[in-house]
Amino acid sequence: MLAHDPGRGHPERPDRLRVLLDHLEDAAGLVRLRPRPATEDELALVHTRAHVERVASTAGQPRVVFDPDTIASPDSYEAARLAAGSLLVGCEAILADEVRSAFALVRPPGHHAERERVMGFCFFNNVAVAAAFLGTRGIRRVAIVDWDVHHGNGTQHIFETDPDVLYVSTHQYPYYPGTGAAEEVGRGAGAGRTLNLPFPAGFGDAEYVQAFHEIVLPVCRQFVPEFVLVSAGFDCDQRDPLAAMAVTPAGFAAMARACTEIARESAGGRIAAVLEGGYDLGALVDGVDAVLAAMRGTPDASPPVTGKGRKLEGVLARVRSAHEPYWRL
Ligand SMILES: [Zn+2]
Repeated sequence: MLAHDPGRGHPERPDRLRVLLDHLEDAAGLVRLRPRPATEDELALVHTRAHVERVASTAGQPRVVFDPDTIASPDSYEAARLAAGSLLVGCEAILADEVRSAFALVRPPGHHAERERVMGFCFFNNVAVAAAFLGTRGIRRVAIVDWDVHHGNGTQHIFETDPDVLYVSTHQYPYYPGTGAAEEVGRGAGAGRTLNLPFPAGFGDAEYVQAFHEIVLPVCRQFVPEFVLVSAGFDCDQRDPLAAMAVTPAGFAAMARACTEIARESAGGRIAAVLEGGYDLGALVDGVDAVLAAMRGTPDASPPVTGKGRKLEGVLARVRSAHEPYWRL
């Protein structure tokens, strides 16, 4: 995954993963699982065969430009299969009771990848592959919580008619990729199972934490997931060079604790996170530390550092109104 190289100056660079591996090299109390590539059949749980073949055809090619953001180097196909497979390895270890929680530190990220389209640095939708894979292993209801600063258009679209996958996203809005309005709630049998919290630029810890407590936690509790997946992006950190939110490690700790709480209540503690975006190296290290601490059950007393909650009520009112037919909020 370090060998995937979208080109000089690209923010989704190998150093993102390298700093995390270096930082955690001597960390005590972690079980290191060996990644494996996702199989073509596993990828085809959520992607078309034609899409898998299109990405596969880049293997060994010097440089294939899908769009200005999404560029494959000779090793990108293998890296993308390992990224999806790493999360599967974590899920398998959790299902086998070898570990209780897992964090797949991977690149390329996944949540923008659509069923048949690469997009926004993403080739295969890692978290979607895992949610579908869990379905094949007898897990019926999966909640995906995505706090990356960008809306996970691919994940939403893949599951928007599926009543058994709850997709929850907090994201800067309006912003790339343009989807993620509060009124996008899922379709058909999946109505109500897409929960979008579109945030204006500038929201910090206080707004994120309050939104989790007033909306995300109550909806997840009523959904009663049997497994929790987290699309953990750290580009909503106030240090991130691409986006304009103001979350600090205290905010990530609180969100991660909320997710582990849900997992404990209805999913036997089963929770797996996967790295999405995050382009400031210090923010990545601090954010991953905060999530790992929450997964280990470390009590966290640090209060929100940023945010005043002033513009939050309007956002939450829109979300409540869009979801009134589906949840008690
Ligand atoms: Zn992102």
